[in-house]
Amino acid sequence: MAIEKELVDLMKKYYENVDHCIGYPVCQYPNISGFGEWYDKTGLCDISINNVGNPFDAEQFVLNSTMIERDVIRKFSRIYGVPEGKEWGFVTNSGTDGNMHGIYFGAKKLQKETGMLPLVYISKEAHYSSSRICDVQNLETRMIDYDKYGRMDPEAFREALDPTRPALIVFAIGSTFMGAVDDIQAIQKVLDEKKPVGVYKHLDAALFGGYLPFTPYKDLVNMQKQGYDSIAISGHKFFGVDEPCGLFISRQEIIDSQQSFKVEYLRNDMPLISCSRNGLTPLKFHWIMNAMGNEGFEKEAAFMLENTQYLQDKLDENNYPAWHLKYSNTVFFKRPPQWIRDKYMLANGYMEEYGGELSHVVVMQHVTKDIIDEFIEDILSSVEE
Ligand SMILES: *Cc1c(COP(=O)(O)O)cnc(C)c1O
Repeated sequence: MAIEKELVDLMKKYYENVDHCIGYPVCQYPNISGFGEWYDKTGLCDISINNVGNPFDAEQFVLNSTMIERDVIRKFSRIYGVPEGKEWGFVTNSGTDGNMHGIYFGAKKLQKETGMLPLVYISKEAHYSSSRICDVQNLETRMIDYDKYGRMDPEAFREALDPTRPALIVFAIGSTFMGAVDDIQAIQKVLDEKKPVGVYKHLDAALFGGYLPFTPYKDLVNMQKQGYDSIAISGHKFFGVDEPCGLFISRQEIIDSQQSFKVEYLRNDMPLISCSRNGLTPLKFHWIMNAMGNEGFEKEAAFMLENTQYLQDKLDENNYPAWHLKYSNTVFFKRPPQWIRDKYMLANGYMEEYGGELSHVVVMQHVTKDIIDEFIEDILSSVEE
């Protein structure tokens, strides 16, 4: 027995209710079946894989899976509209890790070009990781008010923008609580007018960046159409990798713009912050990509957005105050009693404009109409209480 049965049983007990965990954006139907058996059979499970170094550099450390990592990055680069042959990226530890590198590369590029560190502009509705990262990297941030749809308010941005300093903008492509998509074009207009001395645009698209490319709204995360420099997406959210990981996608020119950082024993420049990196998650990403294909992802994205509308309609029919924004798989509503929040692991928020205390559901692949019907029944019974 590798791990004591009592401990395993305890863990499994928590997972009995997994279908009802609908407040957080984790895919609880990972598309990874068969991977474990394959991993065992190939003998890859008996080696230690480590993707130390730049995956696009000639094998800095050879006991790795970077050939597979590069393939994942190249295929996803097409999906995010990176010009062919210009892509650079890696499989990250998480969405946060992707934001960490986007903000770092952006700040260093701007510093090299202008001799100044940038001001970082982030919407107050964005995920906390970006402002936390600025704290870690000691970057000055300006937190921007959002409009009633949760998007970075272009007027507030105009007021906050200091054109004498380079600007690093983090766009929330899917803000955390409301599920708002910052309007890149509206912010770009302000940039065109005020012309700061340097601009870098990073997309925090941890959740929405997974499904948007497989919907009619795919242009929202297309690099050529939106003119951004880097994007971070989580692997365990829409893509359904069964452990935390993610994608960071940018262009080779962004890496080439960095101050050289030579590491003798790694034979070359080392652009990444972490030394050792997970070599298993690129295999899982590749496995899922092959198993799903674009069509599979399109089906899942349509399923999620359809069920989002279904949940919204059911709440509307019953006059329960609820909202969801365009492009979003998040429905937020008047905060129900504690027992419902516990049963469904709901996440809380507070918005004066929407009546104060709220909770939300993120409609991922495991949030079926059956679960939604049960949830609605519980909500209605709580209204009668
Ligand atoms: C989930 C999320 C993050 C954090 O991603 P992790 O993969 O959990 O590190 C950052 N930003 C947004 C918008 C998210 O939804």
